[in-house]
Amino acid sequence: MPERDHAPLPMNPALRSDATPPGPGATAGAARLVRGEILHFSGAPDAGAPADASPAYEHYADGGLLIEAGIVRRCGAWAEVAAAAPPATPLDDQRGRLILPGLVDIHVHYPQTDIIASPGRGLLDWLERYAFVAERRFADPAVARETAGFFCEELLRNGTTTALVFGTVHPQSVDALFEVAQDRGLRLVAGKVMMDRHCPEFLRDTAQSSYDDSKRLIERWQGVGRLGYAITPRFAASSSPAQLEAAGALAREFPQLVVQSHVAENTAEVAWIRALYPDSRSYLDVYDRHGLLKPHAVYAHGIYLDGADRQRMADSGTALAFCPTSNLFLGSGLLDLGQVLEAGVGVGMGSDVGGGTSFSLLRTLGAAYQVAHLKGYVMRPLQAFYLATLAGARALGLEQHIGNFAPGKEADFIVLDPAATPLLARRMAAAQSLDERLFLWLTLGDDRAIASTYVMGAPLWRRDA
Ligand SMILES: [Zn+2]
Repeated sequence: MPERDHAPLPMNPALRSDATPPGPGATAGAARLVRGEILHFSGAPDAGAPADASPAYEHYADGGLLIEAGIVRRCGAWAEVAAAAPPATPLDDQRGRLILPGLVDIHVHYPQTDIIASPGRGLLDWLERYAFVAERRFADPAVARETAGFFCEELLRNGTTTALVFGTVHPQSVDALFEVAQDRGLRLVAGKVMMDRHCPEFLRDTAQSSYDDSKRLIERWQGVGRLGYAITPRFAASSSPAQLEAAGALAREFPQLVVQSHVAENTAEVAWIRALYPDSRSYLDVYDRHGLLKPHAVYAHGIYLDGADRQRMADSGTALAFCPTSNLFLGSGLLDLGQVLEAGVGVGMGSDVGGGTSFSLLRTLGAAYQVAHLKGYVMRPLQAFYLATLAGARALGLEQHIGNFAPGKEADFIVLDPAATPLLARRMAAAQSLDERLFLWLTLGDDRAIASTYVMGAPLWRRDA
């Protein structure tokens, strides 16, 4: 799609600008227009192409979204969209701000919300000292429900409208999260952690119980409303071969489901996996041998994959969650993003809270730019925002529902405020191009830049409310 900019036009007198936007739950059947600068993607922007030559995105300086019953009916230049709207359609005027599809976080642990910013000595130490201790509390459904509520609000405050989420080993942790997400109408994918060894006794399931519990959760939640289930072996060290077999059996029985886990995050972890699975060619190969590489499987980190692994991920349709704030915080290492993309592996962004240091995917993109740069790859701003939106939707197999503003997509979107901070306002005023402004969002932006977050066309979070 070529870039198309349009000058502001006189407002259609049939449109009321003073209409009160509907609140949560008020979307059914109602049409509404949103006006503002709009950017969205139809594919991966060519990393080498100049900004105005990319065929993979649409940008409207004065754009419009027509939404009916929570679904995007039309996206384009304001004049065209306004002309197509039914008479007296309420208008949500966001001129001067940037409208993007809702951000998609493809790797986050909701039970670790309360241990974000806990210093450890690397991944394995951090798991022992903080993660396992925190996750024990989720045996209590009241703790799970309260934390899930805070977690979902924090996602919305940061502009994240869809996430792929780890629960704990306790099935009730996933029930609590799905109940909260369902209340808010969020499109969320989550699963119960499977882990039957190398963790405290109080967090252990068994190969059989993890299979049974996962299956019950699948039957209860998969495809209910906007929810999806993810088969969730924590990582190859904390799952016995028998448990990985059970996870593979679930993946065969329910081929449409997402699989999520971790791979090749840390050198000590990689060495441990080599000792535990001496017959496997690599860490990734452990999952491959158990049928856990497939379309809509998402593995976090992958810093220490080799060329054969990357090729295998690309060939199998397995995606990688790039979690730069976590990789920096835990001292895990620097992902070579250029190598991963060159191999054709699907990549999306992960906050990896609580190893990650922010729920904000803007901050995560800022860290991603810096980490990629240290490995010799310069990420373009357009590419960054593709990774945080449509690429995430693709990794989860949800691109028919979310990720951009194609007609028929669910109207999950965010509004970014260029005057969110004095420095951002000052710097934005001097910016000349879309590329330059996007770079400012990802370098200087955080939760303060998210003016509002809409789910199925309804504003579920407003900064100034
Ligand atoms: Zn993780």
